[in-house]
Amino acid sequence: MEKFSSIPGIGPKTLEKLQKLGIAAPRDLLFHFPHRYIDFSKIIPISNIEPFTNVTIRGTIRSFQNIYTRHGKNIQKAIIADQSGGIELIWFNQPYLSTTFKVGDEFSVAGSVELFQNKPTIISPEFGPYNTGKIIAVYPETSGLTSKWFRKTIQTYLPELVKGIKETLPEEVIKKNNLMPLSEALTEIHTPKNSTLLEQARYRLSLDEIISYQAKSYLLKKERLTYHPKYSFKLTATYQKNIDKFIASLPFELTDSQKNVWQEIMGDLISDKPANRLLQGDVGSGKTIVAALACYLASLNGTISLLIAPTEILARQHFATFQKILNGKIKTHLLTSSSKIIPKDIKKNDIIIATHAAIFHKKHFEDRVGLLIVDEQHKFGVNQRNFLSNPTAPVHTLTMTATPIPRTISLTMLGNLDLSVIKELPKNRQAIKTFLVPQNKISGCYQWIGNEIQKTGCQAFIVCPFIEESETMQSVKSAKKEFDYLSKSIFPHLKLALIHGKDKPKDRDLVIQEFQKNKINILVTTPIIEVGIDIPNSSIIVIQSADRFGLAQLHQLRGRVGRGAAQSYCYLFTESQNDKAQKRLEFLTSHLNGLDVAEYDLRTRGPGSAFSTLQHGFMSLKLADISNLDLIKSSQKVFDDIVTLAPQFDFRSLLEEEAGAVSYSN
Ligand code: ADP
Ligand code: MG
Repeated sequence: MEKFSSIPGIGPKTLEKLQKLGIAAPRDLLFHFPHRYIDFSKIIPISNIEPFTNVTIRGTIRSFQNIYTRHGKNIQKAIIADQSGGIELIWFNQPYLSTTFKVGDEFSVAGSVELFQNKPTIISPEFGPYNTGKIIAVYPETSGLTSKWFRKTIQTYLPELVKGIKETLPEEVIKKNNLMPLSEALTEIHTPKNSTLLEQARYRLSLDEIISYQAKSYLLKKERLTYHPKYSFKLTATYQKNIDKFIASLPFELTDSQKNVWQEIMGDLISDKPANRLLQGDVGSGKTIVAALACYLASLNGTISLLIAPTEILARQHFATFQKILNGKIKTHLLTSSSKIIPKDIKKNDIIIATHAAIFHKKHFEDRVGLLIVDEQHKFGVNQRNFLSNPTAPVHTLTMTATPIPRTISLTMLGNLDLSVIKELPKNRQAIKTFLVPQNKISGCYQWIGNEIQKTGCQAFIVCPFIEESETMQSVKSAKKEFDYLSKSIFPHLKLALIHGKDKPKDRDLVIQEFQKNKINILVTTPIIEVGIDIPNSSIIVIQSADRFGLAQLHQLRGRVGRGAAQSYCYLFTESQNDKAQKRLEFLTSHLNGLDVAEYDLRTRGPGSAFSTLQHGFMSLKLADISNLDLIKSSQKVFDDIVTLAPQFDFRSLLEEEAGAVSYSN
């Protein structure tokens, strides 16, 4: 059964819908997993039914009527009875059921009993052999295929489809780890006999997903190490001197952590293997300067460095920073979607700072790029991550993120990358003081902020609540309103400005430049400033309706202050009386470390919410949750067992076996 054409009743329309779900061949149906289950395995006499419990009953249809209501709607009512009694069944707007439910016929129906027009009734019951008398699977209903359709089709062809499934893991490893064999797991996940077996099946299949990522990472790294980099770099005594001079010219001393990661990165760049390293460091830890050092070395070696940032604001900021710290030593170009002309004069050792939108210009310089740096890597979609194309002569690559990554995850899921971590903040920093501000203290807080600005010359961000994930006109409007209110009624004596996602980048840039020069006291903004923005003189941030943000995002936002030597303050405004929300925000007031924040999120909101930005990169995981650290540890163990117990095992087999599991790129 290799093609859908061998299955009767699947026409071109259905095929098209299946295609949309990525189901190209019958075997892919097995990997279209249910998202929940309903337990209809209890089969009982009608008189024993208790309200609101899921059951299956068997009986004879005593009556069936189509009832038309006034509003063009209709109801189907049937009575089913067994020896113990009878009960009413009701459906809405399914008149064709009259041809199914013939009086006198025997039926199994399943559902739960509730009151309808004061009578015990089963509303919209399931019926028929595929949907009753067992635990039934519920499939996500997308692309216009119903859960019922999947249930019937999969149950019909399951035995035959499963026959075609080869076990993916070595026998010894399955035995040693007590794993359910793959074909059994696929059977149980669609047609579970009981909840214990279902759990085992889900565990086995989740493990497989993680292991295929590991295999992919493992193979990627192995393959990478067989290549030479497109350009290999040298560190001559002269280059070293230049770099030392550059470091000495900085207005600060590098932290020990920055020095360490620079040594690791430099080691990569001057080896004859293509680098692929992830630089992780909490917000404000000083990743940019490390990136600049790498660019400098690339430039000394006569190649272009390409630094990609996720937002235009950030690209422009990096551009300004690089121009300042490199002080004309190396030419830096800015390429964004609003830069209309591509610079014709890009020389072989220049630096290009770009947003993703500008990558389509790459043909003008791609062949001379020797170093690729991706900032805030988690902000790029999986499909956006192929910035350069040269599979057999990879360019040295450095990605940077502030997302805290637990060691277990980085070892297992990001095994193709080498990892460097900046563990400390620059010494000149003071701990940011974070406060939760209830409604009745807001005006006092604003007054204090106004005084502080006039007294010390510091600056402030006021972040307006976001309304939707992507910036809409609605959130822009509310930010404008807030801006008017703040400038007229609260801070009439100060200079305020507003930026939001719908501004023209050039205008926004001007405002940010003015803010940078301290010509603006308070920047009112939507959360578009979330990542990367670095304005050290700004030491106060107000986050309105803080309860609407996730903790990780609040941590990122808070990281916009505390970037200089002054004491910084973060004020979380909230209207929420909700206990949980209060607790969450209170946690932030007493914790400054990104990893602590993420782990708290993991404990309180459960898997899926914490590390959600990281999860982003693993979109094709269907069952497995990468924040389930136990699962990840187990899969690491299984992986190691494969390596030791089955040394001949070909990890490539794991990539082909599972539909959809191989789209990971980094
Ligand atoms: P992030 O890691 O969040 O990208 P940045 O690279 O933007 O952080 O650095 C944050 C701020 O800290 C910048 O203003 C930068 O100039 C400053 N900085 C970086 N390294 C040091 C250091 N070693 N000592 C003092 N300030 C530093
Ligand atoms: Mg940064």
